[in-house]
Amino acid sequence: MNAPDSGTPGRVTLVGGGPGSAGLLTVAAVRALLEAEVVLYDRLAPTDDLPTLAPNARLIDVGKLPGNHAISQCDIEKLIVSHALQGSRVVRLKGGDPYIFGRGSEEVLACHTHGIPVTVISGVTSAIAVPAAAGIPLTHRGMSHAFTVVSGHAPLTDRELEGLVLLGSTIVVLMGVGTLPTLTQGLLRHGMTAEMPVAIIERGFSATQRTTIANLGTILGEAARASVASPAVLVIGEVVRLAFTGDTSAEDLISRAGEFAATS
Ligand code: SAH
Repeated sequence: MNAPDSGTPGRVTLVGGGPGSAGLLTVAAVRALLEAEVVLYDRLAPTDDLPTLAPNARLIDVGKLPGNHAISQCDIEKLIVSHALQGSRVVRLKGGDPYIFGRGSEEVLACHTHGIPVTVISGVTSAIAVPAAAGIPLTHRGMSHAFTVVSGHAPLTDRELEGLVLLGSTIVVLMGVGTLPTLTQGLLRHGMTAEMPVAIIERGFSATQRTTIANLGTILGEAARASVASPAVLVIGEVVRLAFTGDTSAEDLISRAGEFAATS
């Protein structure tokens, strides 16, 4: 990598952009964008208001190239580093929280390797906010007092599936649409009841946000029928019963929560 070609050293701020709604950007994120000279952003970052949020910055979309091919992680790191070495205040804007499945830690390491000052501004993760946008709390007294966030990028191992079933609390899956068949079959094989409620929330916080609710035994068919697609967050657990879906009354919800608390 080249030596800095400007007198002032650059710096990098990894900014968690939240799950897609400008209202869920943190005050620190807004401040960093305001001061940015270069913003490298990708597909799931909240990008609609970027020209206003980062008025002095060169905006670089690293989510796609003209041919619609994603830039490799290695090239993204090279871009971050080279802009910082040229003396720029670089913001790397990522969807959700930079340290949840976003490869943010790799980008921080790349900065450390080149001696570039780097800070991380946490963001609101889709793992929590997207279920909430569908009315689903991840914990509820008497129903679930823990939640586990897993990546569905690759199929889970038998040990992981067994552990999740034994834990018996809420499971949240990101990047899980492609591996939904192996996940549901695996959980059933390890003894989770086919009646366990499952929700899939697609495109959280967009105008086309959609929630599909079924149970572990039926969700595959329902997802296929609805042509469920990424990006989506999956929630597996009793808390899905609390989802407010428009056709539920508040009385229904309260009685569902109450019934469960009474039997657990
Ligand atoms: N760092 C991010 C997650 C990156 S992995 C975070 O903390 O949110 C990308 C996955 O996040 C997607 O495949 C999807 O599972 C989930 N995701 C992110 N934004 C989403 C949104 N607005 N609606 C639904 N899923 C979303």
